Amino acid sequence: MYKTLEAHVRQQVAPAALRAEFRQHEFEAMRRFCLLIFCIGIAIWLVFDLIVSYLGNQGFTWRSGVFFAGLCCLTVVLGFTRRSHHFDVLNLLFIATITLAMRLVIDGVPIVLRPVWLVLGVSTVLYTVSVLPVRRWSFFCAMGISWVLLNPFYHTRLAALELEGAMLLAYAVFLSGLVSYSYLRIRQAKLHNFYLTKVLLEQAYIDALTEIPNRRSFMVKAERQLRLATPGQYLAMIDIDNFKQVNDRYGHDIGDEVLRRVAAHIKAAMSGFEIARLGGEEFAIFFQGLDESGAEQQVAALCRRVREDTGEHRVTISIGLARVDCGDTLSMALVRADQALYEAKHSGKDRAVLWTSRLLGH
Ligand code: GH3
Ligand code: MG
Ligand code: MG
Repeated sequence: MYKTLEAHVRQQVAPAALRAEFRQHEFEAMRRFCLLIFCIGIAIWLVFDLIVSYLGNQGFTWRSGVFFAGLCCLTVVLGFTRRSHHFDVLNLLFIATITLAMRLVIDGVPIVLRPVWLVLGVSTVLYTVSVLPVRRWSFFCAMGISWVLLNPFYHTRLAALELEGAMLLAYAVFLSGLVSYSYLRIRQAKLHNFYLTKVLLEQAYIDALTEIPNRRSFMVKAERQLRLATPGQYLAMIDIDNFKQVNDRYGHDIGDEVLRRVAAHIKAAMSGFEIARLGGEEFAIFFQGLDESGAEQQVAALCRRVREDTGEHRVTISIGLARVDCGDTLSMALVRADQALYEAKHSGKDRAVLWTSRLLGH
């Protein structure tokens, strides 16, 4: 069954907005890795440059210094880059600079050795780019730049129709094809996983009927708010009055419709606060940054809003409100809000009641 559902999700073509979100998400997740790759790239190039410079008796030239400075600058820029589409361009600049720098090093080795080292250079660049979070155009541009700047037929004695030339040419085609294929496949798999995770998380944390967060989501978010221990936290529990009668009189579908409408009121009235459907016809709100009268005004306004809804099948709601003190657990706050709700129900419904120690044990 899971396979069928997974296949169904995988068949959906990811919309452009989702692809953009995926790219940004992947870049943010891999930004440190990209920085590491840039640094390792510079270190490897520097080691080879020093070997060729000193064992080849050429010394470290000003050109090497310029390349080194340029590569370091691009790495610093990456440290400040936050958008994935900026990275697509920055990565191309880095590749253009480092492949030119590699060409400089390889031009310092004996001419017969150059073609192999050029192809080794391109292989390393291509493999590395294929694991970076870049878009397709940026990947294929990187491939083009690498082959042009590290072309093994340029500045060497290689001829395409001779043994070594033909072998390197065949290897170049094979390598480019393989790297492109694995890049595309891995990227597609990552996109699918992102999409699947997003769908599953939405389903796990959003209530299917009312399309507002569910109890699981509320518990996670409210626990987090609680740990922040900012002053002025209040928890409200909401219950629709005589909801069973709505179901009994008009049927379950109308009951569902009423649930959706009440949820929409809560969502519209409480933007900026954590809300949820806890289950059945019960909802919750986690307030922060309010004083007592502010929280009471909010819940009273919500009661009024639902009461004054002029739609069909009108209902009212009762609300229990509890202050959340420093050191309180979420379950303690829920128990208090529930006690206040009980009091609201038993003192006539369609009202909000603030928990006080008088209600202890209700
Ligand atoms: P009170 O004013 O004391 O809250 O009375 P009530 O009738 O609202 O309370 P009760 O808990 O007896 O009824 C809740 C009803 O909510 C019972 C259940 O059938 C209904 N219910 C729970 N979940 C759903 C749902 O998803 N859809 C519909 N239509 N009804 C639901
Ligand atoms: Mg109930
Ligand atoms: Mg009820």
